[in-house]
Amino acid sequence: MTTPTVSMTIIRGGLLLDARAHRADPVDLLVTGDTIAEVGGPGLAAPPGARVIDARGMLLHPGLVNGHTHAHGNLAKGMGDLWTLELLLTAGPWISGGRTMEDRYLSAKLGAVEMVLKGCTAAYDLPLELPMPTREGVEAVGRGYADVGMRAVVAPMVADRTLYEAIPGLPDVLTPALRQDVDALRLAPWKTTAASLGAVFHGWTLDRDQVRLAVAPTIPHHCSNELLHACADLAKEHGVGLHTHVAESKVQAMVGLQHYGKTPTAHLDDLGLLGPHFTVAHGVWLDDDDMKRLGDRGASVSHNPGSNLRLGNGLADMRSMLDHRVNVGVGTDGANCSDNLNMYEAMRLASLVSKGRGPDVERWVRTDEVVVAATEGSARALGFGGRLGRLAPGYKADIVFLDLHHPNWIPLNDPTNQLVHTEDGGAVTHVMIGGRLVVEHRRVTTVDVAALAREVEAARRRLTAVTAPARVLYERLAPLVGRFCPGLAHVPYHVSRYVGGA
Ligand SMILES: [Zn+2]
Repeated sequence: MTTPTVSMTIIRGGLLLDARAHRADPVDLLVTGDTIAEVGGPGLAAPPGARVIDARGMLLHPGLVNGHTHAHGNLAKGMGDLWTLELLLTAGPWISGGRTMEDRYLSAKLGAVEMVLKGCTAAYDLPLELPMPTREGVEAVGRGYADVGMRAVVAPMVADRTLYEAIPGLPDVLTPALRQDVDALRLAPWKTTAASLGAVFHGWTLDRDQVRLAVAPTIPHHCSNELLHACADLAKEHGVGLHTHVAESKVQAMVGLQHYGKTPTAHLDDLGLLGPHFTVAHGVWLDDDDMKRLGDRGASVSHNPGSNLRLGNGLADMRSMLDHRVNVGVGTDGANCSDNLNMYEAMRLASLVSKGRGPDVERWVRTDEVVVAATEGSARALGFGGRLGRLAPGYKADIVFLDLHHPNWIPLNDPTNQLVHTEDGGAVTHVMIGGRLVVEHRRVTTVDVAALAREVEAARRRLTAVTAPARVLYERLAPLVGRFCPGLAHVPYHVSRYVGGA
């Protein structure tokens, strides 16, 4: 018996990217419901009544998967320039504070709109809500994605130490008045945060194929071991991912060694947190032992080269990660520290940063490795391995249609090289997610973008007023944090200086 309620779509005449082979050949794709049922040569049989999409003159590639972003960052794009990671964290109460539930929803929705317009169909999102995540706040982020029709893994960030508690010596350079101000930023005790996070998981109402949860202890040394264990237990109980910023800045790497007498990665491994469900964000300062641990445990790294450059954190070594069998994904990071959510740019930078590390061509990552990372690699990090990241039978129908008449593709010499080094989102024409066209002829079909712009502008005005005192505090703290933290980063980084010491 047939089930007439399942929608059928046949996509005819597009060139299907084979990233590994650097080829694109004409195909027809049959989509049943939200899944690719068949991929065949031109003229593939389709059931009568199937919707036909004419993809002649288009390149089809799997939806890009953003391995690391932050929903709250979308209202803060362009707010800063000369920011290290530590200055960005100092700016947090100003650029991310004062948010209502509606702001959280708008910010997530805005990011989802930007991502789908730029060929991205799924993201690993780490929203911030202070002093701790609430069910309403996390659901607001999830609804933002769901309403646009994009997929997301939403991992609320938690910590029980502020920047000023996490970095030894930092409070000592503050005046007594400033110390009092930063004391007021203190976070909830770990048990309270863990309980609140647990409540987020109970009664999650969104379709888990579209928006699912994970757990994000922000930065290891911003979390007590008790909180890290609680996060790991929660992830295990619900069978979801763990995602944390590891070895992002050199300051983090140095402080991690001081805290633990070993690298943060070694510490997390000793606590039992590493595994196939574990994702490192950034990993700029991972050493070979760290990468081996991650590779041996089947863990992932989201490589976010745009953010790393923007915050002065350095150039992550994707080749070494791959050599150590780490699953590598690619991400943009939040718009508060990369200012856009453009996965084509992230791919281009992943390629260029590898080449920028030195002249040894054999150490460079190839464009096909970058495409695989930004699709299959990120998908695996999100827990969607085997269902997202390829255009093949059994995979979800998350398909980007690029216009080959756009200057980015004139002439078409090598589709893989051009996807990474030439495409910038300008040729994105349609974007299908789960069989549904969420972008059609370059316009978002699911939400009213003009109305969204008006709502965001109203939020921006209100937040500018509400966060004015936090901005003043940032401006008083910034010169002190900005002098102290780079001092830590100027000390040579040698694990042996600390391991077994003291
Ligand atoms: Zn991040």
